[in-house]
Amino acid sequence: MQRLSNEKHHKTLVPPHLSNVTVISEPGEGVAPAMNDNMTFVFPPVPATTLPVSGTRDLFPVNRVYCVGRNYAAHAREMGHNPDREPPFFFQKNPSCLVTGAAFRMPPGATDIHHEIELAVALQSGGSGIAPDRALDHVFGYAVALDMTRRDLQAELKKLGRPWEVAKAFEGSAPCSPIQPASAIGHPTRGEVRLDINGERRQSGDLSQMIWPVADLIARLSTYFTLQPGDIILTGTPDGVGPVHPGDKLSGAIAGVGTLKVDVI
Ligand code: MN
Repeated sequence: MQRLSNEKHHKTLVPPHLSNVTVISEPGEGVAPAMNDNMTFVFPPVPATTLPVSGTRDLFPVNRVYCVGRNYAAHAREMGHNPDREPPFFFQKNPSCLVTGAAFRMPPGATDIHHEIELAVALQSGGSGIAPDRALDHVFGYAVALDMTRRDLQAELKKLGRPWEVAKAFEGSAPCSPIQPASAIGHPTRGEVRLDINGERRQSGDLSQMIWPVADLIARLSTYFTLQPGDIILTGTPDGVGPVHPGDKLSGAIAGVGTLKVDVI
């Protein structure tokens, strides 16, 4: 929410996709006011990012994108870490990083971009302090996503102890399939997660190998953030990550969830 310093800036408004969020304090106390008929936007708001809902004409409006690092032990080890000593952790991408097109464009200047195939969880409701045994009630559905990562920058950032955003949250960094509603596919807890490049298997794991399963992820995230409808969680990648190059054809799949095909350009 915007911090408001004077009356003029009260025209900085809650975006349409958040207009149903309860305003919890008065204007001037640091929370943007709800829209009313006397107000206009100072410029057209950027449209909400949306994901198609499989088998329907409906759209899922994306609010925030959370990611989990090192949620599969074999991937933690391949990156040089000990999963027994270092638990998984969270970071964020921007909502606009999620894209449904069939092409992934290499960012300018990138020298080492890795694929990370991941189960995406799409929330229809939220809250804070969510109990693990109620966490799946908040899930609208699931999708197949790629957490594309600039390993060139990330390696430098790790050495310097700096945040990862520029390595993770660049434009187009999260190609995503349509969402499969949980009402249609249930809540998958096991099943193969795989990625092929040009017909060759590169990543292969199983949803059952997550160190923090989906219900745990939601419960833990809700201790840091008040989760909201439209939030997406990328749940971590199995081992086998590696570089992509222009011309590569990526084909990802998660058993019981769907497929994702992306051409690197
Ligand atoms: Mn990842």
